[in-house]
Amino acid sequence: MTLFCKQCNERRVPVFQKTENISFWLCEKCGNFCDKDDNIIRELSELERKTLEKEVEDFEKDTAKLPQEKMKRRKGVN
Ligand SMILES: [Zn+2]
Repeated sequence: MTLFCKQCNERRVPVFQKTENISFWLCEKCGNFCDKDDNIIRELSELERKTLEKEVEDFEKDTAKLPQEKMKRRKGVN
C-alpha cells in the first residue's frame, strides 16, 4: 500500500515531481520517494528536505494567523 511506508508504517505524502511530471510518495521519516507501485525511487535530498521544512513552516504560519493574537515564533534554525 502506497499510502503507508513499508519500512516504518508512517503515512506518506504525495510530492509532485516537476522533472518526472508525476507525484511520488514521500515518507518524511525515512526520507525516500516511492512510486505508485511501492518501489523506492530515490532518497530525499538535502535541498528537498530544506524546501519541505520551509513549506511546512509557511503552512504553519498561515494556519497560525489568528487575528486576535500575535504568536511569537522562533526565528532561524533551532
Ligand atoms: Zn518510512
